[in-house]
Amino acid sequence: MIIVSGCLLGIPCKYDGGTNLSKDVKEYLTDKSYAMVCPETMGGLSAPRPPAEIVGDRVINNQNEDVTEAFRLGAEKAWRLACERAEEKGEDITLAILKARSPSCGSGRIYDGTFAGVVTDGDGIFAALLKEKGIKVITEDELEAYIEEETSND
Ligand code: SF4
Repeated sequence: MIIVSGCLLGIPCKYDGGTNLSKDVKEYLTDKSYAMVCPETMGGLSAPRPPAEIVGDRVINNQNEDVTEAFRLGAEKAWRLACERAEEKGEDITLAILKARSPSCGSGRIYDGTFAGVVTDGDGIFAALLKEKGIKVITEDELEAYIEEETSND
């Protein structure tokens, strides 16, 4: 089973109330088992909501509100939901395809906390949790390379 960010499949859960629909991700998942999650809305945040970025060990939105607990709660809930889905199907979670640069879903590179569109090294709260659990995490930007690697290993 694959965990996927809901916004990549066209769910309007992005901070601005829109989506991050990726045709490539959608197509890749066509014949696969997946669990779609949005950690931020699962943590009780609305869509739309003020954009947030990671600052040190906290998550702060552009209204200067600390939303760390909602992010952590949502990440835990998203992980539990994915585990439940995998258990129901008798499958292991083999991969997560998450939205690049998000303070929840970003993997390897995230926005730097200045709200200036600058990225820096780091993981979003949910991506970090999945990595702690031993799950391989890629973003939509890495999917093509992942598929090529998958194909060459066949
Ligand atoms: S938390 Fe993840 S799934 Fe939800 S909108 Fe942000 S990037 Fe998409």
